[in-house]
This record gives sequence, C-alpha cells and structure tokens, in this order.
Amino acid sequence: MTTTRFAPSPTGYIHVGNLRTALFNYLIARKAGGTFILRIDDTDPERSKEDYVDAIKEDLDWLGLHWDRVERQSERLDRYAEAADRLREMGRFYECFETPTELDLKRKKQLNMGKPPVYDRAALALSDAEKDTLRAERGQGHWRFKLDHERIEWVDGILGDISIDAASVSDPVLIRGDGQVLYTLASVVDDTEMGVTHVVRGSDHVTNTATQIQMIRALGAEPPAFAHHSLLTGPQGEALSKRLGTLSLRDLRARGVEPMALLSLMARLGSSDPVELRGSVDELVEGFDISRFGAAPTKFDENDLFPLTARHLHAQPLDAVRAEIAALGVPDDLAERFWTVARENITTRADLAGWWAMMRDGADPVIADEDRNFVAEAMALLPEPPYDDQTWATWTAAVKDKTGRKGKGLFMPLRLALTGQPRGPEMADLMPLLQHVRAKHG
Ligand code: GLU
Repeated sequence: MTTTRFAPSPTGYIHVGNLRTALFNYLIARKAGGTFILRIDDTDPERSKEDYVDAIKEDLDWLGLHWDRVERQSERLDRYAEAADRLREMGRFYECFETPTELDLKRKKQLNMGKPPVYDRAALALSDAEKDTLRAERGQGHWRFKLDHERIEWVDGILGDISIDAASVSDPVLIRGDGQVLYTLASVVDDTEMGVTHVVRGSDHVTNTATQIQMIRALGAEPPAFAHHSLLTGPQGEALSKRLGTLSLRDLRARGVEPMALLSLMARLGSSDPVELRGSVDELVEGFDISRFGAAPTKFDENDLFPLTARHLHAQPLDAVRAEIAALGVPDDLAERFWTVARENITTRADLAGWWAMMRDGADPVIADEDRNFVAEAMALLPEPPYDDQTWATWTAAVKDKTGRKGKGLFMPLRLALTGQPRGPEMADLMPLLQHVRAKHG
C-alpha cells in the first residue's frame, strides 16, 4: 500500500517551501488511496517546541491536508537505539572523538589541497585503549555510519537517474556525543518500519538520500521510491531562504491568502502543467503527477497568490462567508445581495469590511471642482433610501433630463460622489445596499 509522510522538524512555522513537500506527499498518498503520515521529527529536544507542533497541525488543517496518523520520533528512541546496535554488530558503526574544531581544521586542510572535504575515517584506526583514553578525556564519542565505497544509484521521481560516489560523501554522524539520535538514523528506521513507499523532499536532501539508501539496505530493507523537488527561489531567481520567515503559512493566512489559491499554485508551480485554480483538494488529487515536475529551481512570487485568492472568492456562494458577513453587521435580508455585489470587488476577505462600512456609513465623496454644481443638482434629485434595483436608472434619467449630461460625464461623477472610488460594483446593483448616501455630503 502506498504510504507517504510529511516530516517537519518542529523548530519553526511551516512556510511555502515546506508546503510543497507536504502537498506532494499528500497528493501521492491520496491519489493511490494510500496513507499519509504526519511525522514530527523532534529528536532534538532543545530546538523542538510543542507550540510549533500545534502550529504545524493547525496550518495543515487550515489547508485541508488531513493526515491519517501522527508519529513522533521522540517516542521511538528505543527503536533507533536498537537499529544502532544492529549496525554496530555489523561493523557499520564506529565511534569518533574529533571535536568540531578539529573537524573544521581537517576540512580546511583538505580544501587547501584541492581535495573534497570528506571525513578521513581517522577514528577507524583507534585501538580500544586509545578510545578508552579519549573517552576519559573527552566523554562519549559520536557515532558514524560506515559507508560502503561504491556508487549509490536510484531513479529519482523528479531528477531521473542519480548516481553518487559514496567515497565523495562523509560517513554520516548518526548519534551525537551527548547521545542524541540524529535525523538521518531516525528517518531511516521510521521509513522502514512504517512501510513508507514514497519519499518526496527538497533537493537539499539528495546526498542524505544516498547515505540513507545504504543504511536502509544494511538494516535489511528495501528503500522507498525517492523524488526530490527543486527549491523555491524569489521571482528573480534570488534565494528565498532568508525570506522564508515572512512566507510562513500563518503569515500568508493573515494576509488573506485563501488555502485553495495557495494549494492550486503549489500543485503546479515548477511543473510542465499550467496553474489552474481548483475548487477543492480532491480536485488537485485528480490532476497530480510528480513526473511533470522539473529539476530547475522554481520561481515563486507571492503576488501570484492574490489574483488566485480573488478568483477563488468570486466563485464562493454566500454560505462560505455567511458568518463573516453577519459578523460585519450586514442585516440578513441584505446578505445575499451584499455578497453578490462585494465578491467581484475584493481581493481578500478583509476587503469586505471596507465595502460594508462604505454602504452603511456613506463614502467620503470625491468631487472634482468642475462637477460641484452638477453633483449638487443630482443629489437634490436623489430620494431617501431604501433603494431598489430601479433606483439608479430612474435617478440618472432624471439627472440627465435636468442637466443634459450623459454617458461617462454623467455616471462617473455620481459614482465618485457616492462611493469615493472610480471603480467598483455596478451602480444599479449597489444602490439597494446604500444606507446613508447623504451622510458625508455636508
Ligand atoms: N525533518 C526533515 C526535514 O525537515 C525531514 C526530511 C525528510 O523528508 O526525510 O528536513
């Protein structure tokens, strides 16, 4: 059975970059009728925060990406210890005592000599007595997985054929000196024991994948299918890493971005298919195909989210916003008309408040000097509210008779006088919603 997982570390809020990972894994699972696991990678007790765990769940809920179960790495430490023992017995796990400074020095030396900065395996030569001495001096060592120096190959779901020379990669550290299990080991044990069949993650994990494939095989299992999506850049191709903080899902939500706008963009951005606004997560599942995505960095422009948000809102029935409209104080009998008129003229839901305030309280009129007399004459002909569908036609006909103005010269000053804006809803539709047209006309 197809099983995928989204495996965030709860050390921050999820952002647009993580969202792609979550969404792709979600869509693969749903398309195959499989299982989507939310795995919390919280083996680092110092950096992991419970608040972030809650926030991640809340953000996924907001998007409608529902998981089938939650797994927490912090609750599976005994499983990782057991796997570590097995690797140790196989002679694939060795203890090292270099300090970070020593490792840094080694790397610098290698780079100076034009060599790749790969760990030199000096610790493999230590005798038991030497290790005892080092342990007494420095405390417990850290543990590395001993890679077999062969080419590691897989067919990547996005990148195609990959072949990595294991000798060009440092033996990965799996357990730190303080005993903390690192993600690489935990992830391998989880993917294997949880029956994960497909792993989609960012292309920053390609080297990890190479080492993880060897570890999975060493532990007697078959690796899942891997796909590495490209990383997002800004619209000009600039790195997004520094800006991801402001591109968190909660930030976008606070700015009024609608979940389906975000998901519709992310399900297609970087693929050979055009972005299409979809009405539901289920509709996204239909058209999703990971092989349509390319390896090149994907340009992301947050401004693209707003037209999609507007289009999404335009298509919503009153029921989708009834509570919010009631909360603004729009009377029930005007709610349907208010929404029909307003939805065409908003970018985000937050814009509704401005339209209602204008309708309820009257707008600050905009009147050009040369239109002053004309507007005054027209206002004198306007009856008191309530208005109906005919009010605009009847009124403007009377104004035309009185003043001789017609066309834009007639309509535009009246629109500006009543709404304060040169654009907006059809005036005929708007009139029945106007409660105090004269309030701000001196
Ligand atoms: N916790 C890891 C990360 O956020 C998960 C990577 C993976 O998908 O294996 O980078």
